[in-house]
Amino acid sequence: MKSQEITKRWVDFFVSKGHTAVPSASLVSSDPSLLFTVAGMVPFIPYLTAREEPPYSRATSVQKCIRTGDIEEVGKTARHGTFFQMCGNFSFGDYFKEDAIKFAWELLTTSVDDGGYGLAPERLWVTVYEEDDEAEELWLKNTGVPAERIQRMGKSDNYWSTGQPGPAGPCSEIYYDRGPAYGVEGGPLADETRYIEIWNLVFMQYQIENVRSKVDFDIVGELPKKNIDTGLGMERLAMILQGVENMYETDQVRPVIDKAAELSGKEYTSAETPEDPHHTDDVRMRVVADHIRSALMLISDGVTPSNEGRGYVLRRLIRRAVRSMRLLGVEQACLPELLPASRDAMKGVYPVVETDFARISRIAYAEEKAFLRTIASGTARLEDAVKESKAANKPLSGEDAFTLHDTYGFPIDLTLEMAEEAGLKVDEAAFRSLMQEQRQRAQADAKGKKGGHADVSVFQELLGQGETVFTGYTELEGESRV
Ligand code: ATP
Ligand code: MG
Ligand code: MG
Ligand code: MG
Repeated sequence: MKSQEITKRWVDFFVSKGHTAVPSASLVSSDPSLLFTVAGMVPFIPYLTAREEPPYSRATSVQKCIRTGDIEEVGKTARHGTFFQMCGNFSFGDYFKEDAIKFAWELLTTSVDDGGYGLAPERLWVTVYEEDDEAEELWLKNTGVPAERIQRMGKSDNYWSTGQPGPAGPCSEIYYDRGPAYGVEGGPLADETRYIEIWNLVFMQYQIENVRSKVDFDIVGELPKKNIDTGLGMERLAMILQGVENMYETDQVRPVIDKAAELSGKEYTSAETPEDPHHTDDVRMRVVADHIRSALMLISDGVTPSNEGRGYVLRRLIRRAVRSMRLLGVEQACLPELLPASRDAMKGVYPVVETDFARISRIAYAEEKAFLRTIASGTARLEDAVKESKAANKPLSGEDAFTLHDTYGFPIDLTLEMAEEAGLKVDEAAFRSLMQEQRQRAQADAKGKKGGHADVSVFQELLGQGETVFTGYTELEGESRV
């Protein structure tokens, strides 16, 4: 089943259950303190927190999301994209746990011929919050899940709270068993490679006060209006329904892998484990495909490359993609080949990526060119430094690596790799301590100014689920990569 059909069935199903279909909001969150939309619930925060009266009591959406916090997982796990689409259904003081569970089960297990996704019931596992007996009973009573396939999880996994006084409540998640070829038996608690989390049901049920931490607070009562917030990863469902190994091989992403393979002359083999000799190259191709798509969607939503905030995330995604292509052996500009492949895979659902492609591609190609120029000019500087260090019989100094980074925008992993090619080590420890000093200076500077960072952390908490919202500083911690 194609992605477009998956999302169509989602919306049709929930509309048939009385939900209002709400179009995806922009990736650029309307709240300036939150860099990106990281979940389907973000546009509904005012309703879920009862700050505004919702115009409907039930809604459904397929929301574009960016999670920069997952960037290091991309290509290595089967299930983490920096961009993905979260299908959601929401109840604002309307139905609660019982219907949320019934809807999820019905949609997942109804046959494809009858409009559902046709997942085999015996492949589905469920987690509930450890004290939520009610949820477990509702699963047992209303669905075909036997008690052996229901697992209890603690607060850190299965409880949603904002970290602030206000609404909170337990979650229940649905996992799909990919079978013994993928890992050990025993459910999601035993193996998250074999058991793929597909859907999170959040039951906003309690009012909490005296919040000491995200998992330590006092429940002071039931909410007068209880809410449902759910999120299903469209790409994860697509990966199951399309019978592929991971979300990067689904119909909206795979064409870019194929293009990267063609350009580099490397074979893509679906390698899953680091022991597989193809793994490194396969991960690079998956990273390329993921990041190119994220860049396409971000530029489409109005983000442009820059050195801070959202623009820096975009810059980093493009540079990581270019860098990965370079590691695959392609040194010339490749976005003019990769970006159209991503456009063609996405335009069925997002026609704007085609109608606005002239603008989108201009921005993306210019960024790639600028990065290639950076690489070229840094390379000359690096070669000088290599020559001097060799003559002195010393490793490349931390100062040299830092200057390359700071003045030439030359990423440290590139320095490491090129120095190694020249048979030279780099004083990485000295480089890192120079970076650390610079970071402290920047943070001290920022403290003097008034910034939105405190607000960002509030929203980070508000979103719960431990999701990291990008801030310039946290992103800079990952300096070892482009
Ligand atoms: P995981 O534990 O696998 O990282 P999560 O618990 O962080 O997922 P939730 O915050 O519960 O994810 O989001 C709801 C759903 O969105 C998940 O069940 C999953 O299907 C999907 N999802 C979350 N993060 C990603 C991602 N980076 N890429 C693709 N789908 C995702
Ligand atoms: Mg999870
Ligand atoms: Mg989850
Ligand atoms: Mg996660």
